[in-house]
Amino acid sequence: MFQISFQQAKAYLDAGEDRMAVACFRFRALYTWRAIQSIGWLGWCHEQGRGVPRDPYTALLWYRYALRMCSKKSESAWIEQRLQRLEQENPKPQHGSEVRFEDALCGTIVSRYEEPSCRCSFLEDHAVCNLPPGVPYDMAAIYLHEEHKEREFKRYHEGSPTPPDRIDETFRRDFPHFRLRIERGTGVRYSHRQEGDCYTMILPAAANCDQMITREAIMTYGTKLMIEAAKAYLLPRLAYWSEQTGLKYNSSGISRARNHFGICYTGQKRILFSCHLIKYSDLKIDSVIIHELCHTKVSGHDNAFYDFLGRHTTRAQYRKEIDSIPESVPYDL
Ligand SMILES: [Zn+2]
Repeated sequence: MFQISFQQAKAYLDAGEDRMAVACFRFRALYTWRAIQSIGWLGWCHEQGRGVPRDPYTALLWYRYALRMCSKKSESAWIEQRLQRLEQENPKPQHGSEVRFEDALCGTIVSRYEEPSCRCSFLEDHAVCNLPPGVPYDMAAIYLHEEHKEREFKRYHEGSPTPPDRIDETFRRDFPHFRLRIERGTGVRYSHRQEGDCYTMILPAAANCDQMITREAIMTYGTKLMIEAAKAYLLPRLAYWSEQTGLKYNSSGISRARNHFGICYTGQKRILFSCHLIKYSDLKIDSVIIHELCHTKVSGHDNAFYDFLGRHTTRAQYRKEIDSIPESVPYDL
């Protein structure tokens, strides 16, 4: 097994190789039981800004962690001293203050210093994490990633229709207006190429499809491509039907909605389609488009609406198409 001693790590620091020293201290802190001196020195590196950005709150966190692990006074005396001085110089973040930042996995995160416990919740467009005072705000991301993994795990295993159980190079989709292929590339990023309505997603060379986080990244990128395809096909189709029926709208767009295929804000004459509509046949797509166009004149679903709709499409044909569309889509691809 790969091992680094405290002396080796400290030698890097003495030689001015700060980043190497921090990496070694951190490795020992995470993988070696009771690496008290390493944890203490990791705090010191954060306090002084050696090999890492200067951040007294992170330093406080590591010092406290070292002291929790330590039973011998002789080992901990210097850590305790530094901790006390740092606490005096850096008052705790104010009760009720909050920090907002962007995270690659969870989107916008708001860290709130509220209660002496870690609690997190996912709201519609951001996630909130309550942190005890003194904890660096970006620790919220670590808690939320754990929570996120749990949620994804449940989502994958509890849905009634089976989601794609394997998403890798063998995965493909053939919808009427959106086709998806997956290929492994040689780069480090996700990318794609497009030929007509066929999108080929190119995976990073090192993508490990056994990991849920990779499968999630593939789903996310695939949905992005589906949105592109939906924009290219549905919006011109909407313009065509607006022309044909004489029903005007002001603006249009594509959403990720799973519980409806189209929505019209009658007042603003704004029409949005779910990207999932792209998976269906022309007849179904046109039925949804005409339904939403009619909402630019009549809101709600009473008889007046269906009478109005009847002027633009035959009721029997419309019913047949609309009724065979499911009410919601459980999975993205
Ligand atoms: Zn409607």
